[in-house]
Amino acid sequence: MPTIVMKFGGTSVANIEKINAAADKVAAEVVRGNKVVVVVSAMSGVTNKLVGYCREMSSMYDIREYDTVVSSGEQITSGLMAMALQERDITARSWLGWQVPIHTDNVHGQASITSIETDALQERLNLGEVAVVPGFQGLTERNRISTLGRGGSDTTAVALAAALKADRCDIYTDVDGVYTTDPRIVPEAQKINRISYEEMIELASLGAKVLQTRSVEVAMKNNVNLQVLCSFGEEIGSDLPGTLLTANEDDMETKIVSGVAYQADEAKVTLLNVPDIPGIASKIFKPLSNAAVNVDMIVQNISSNGDATDMTFTVSKGELPRALKALEQVEGVDDLEIRVAEDLAKVSVVGVGMITNHGIASTMFETLAEKNINIEVVSTSEIKISVLIKRDYMELAVRALHSAFGLDQE
Ligand code: ADP
Ligand code: ASP
Ligand code: MG
Repeated sequence: MPTIVMKFGGTSVANIEKINAAADKVAAEVVRGNKVVVVVSAMSGVTNKLVGYCREMSSMYDIREYDTVVSSGEQITSGLMAMALQERDITARSWLGWQVPIHTDNVHGQASITSIETDALQERLNLGEVAVVPGFQGLTERNRISTLGRGGSDTTAVALAAALKADRCDIYTDVDGVYTTDPRIVPEAQKINRISYEEMIELASLGAKVLQTRSVEVAMKNNVNLQVLCSFGEEIGSDLPGTLLTANEDDMETKIVSGVAYQADEAKVTLLNVPDIPGIASKIFKPLSNAAVNVDMIVQNISSNGDATDMTFTVSKGELPRALKALEQVEGVDDLEIRVAEDLAKVSVVGVGMITNHGIASTMFETLAEKNINIEVVSTSEIKISVLIKRDYMELAVRALHSAFGLDQE
């Protein structure tokens, strides 16, 4: 009997009607003779609301209690999904993260799954019971609830598929696959039928939130048969033309640039007059890391006089108050001048073809210049180029770059 993991994201379980529609899909897979594990997200908007409560309570909230609060959204949907399945005469129960258990490290707010105990779950699957697992939740080494970072239900699903050696992991969402860019911003975006794990990791880490980066890493490491499918409509599983993740690059639609990704709501912090001495970066970034602030781009300018330099880094806008508070703990902070710019966005072009093709950066910069868009920070890797620009120009930049790199649908 094949085992499959079916994951439903926030918009696919946004209300009772949607949960019922998702339950119909699960029932159809059961009828086809599959053992099914269902992973559910919180109803759309719920996690944002819970995060908002934490921030409202305190800018330096205890990250362990944050996990207690924000993990609760998934608990609700797991119970409701189990009920919906029972209504369809399917034996089903919820398994909270700690009940499975899904073990993680102690990095609250951004935990990594270290192992999953599957014996009890497997026993019940063998009896024909459907397991409903709330995504996003884990249990730390210290026996506390952890969460896997935003979008983490994808990772719960893939990690369960890997641990159970499932035949398939189907990620049901509100788009019918992975596109060359977010189809909400660029209607001309094209659906990618097959994409390599590497490119998807890069696209996801640069903001294409259709899959959490870590879920793709786990899929790649464990060779999980992972596909992204649309949750609307009647069809299920491999009947649907979604996007299949693959290790086999020969099969791929090869283009120099395979996609454009963006991250809105970036903030930039610049520290002026930073002493140009060894160890200074560690002094600045240690308090940020202790406060569980995710720092993204980092730029250190050369010092013009040999004594002092400027250091710039970016964080998400929501984390800015926490970052600034953490900086107060930097030794000698009173001598630093801190400048903050909000309302920025990061736009990136991604493609494995960049390794062997030149001129991508210049095309990117020319395209942005033609639209009069100023670049604040640039960062590159072998297969991507990212620029930080004003948030107001983000959509324009994404559209222009998508078109400039020949990704628009004919
Ligand atoms: P879920 O709640 O199902 O996890 P998410 O909102 O996390 O769904 O991810 C799906 C969304 O990702 C889509 O609605 C789409 O707007 C966005 N998205 C961003 N980039 C892409 C892309 N390249 N391809 C498809 N969707 C993308
Ligand atoms: N509910 C969590 C979030 O919104 C996890 C997920 O949906 O994947 O980030
Ligand atoms: Mg998601």
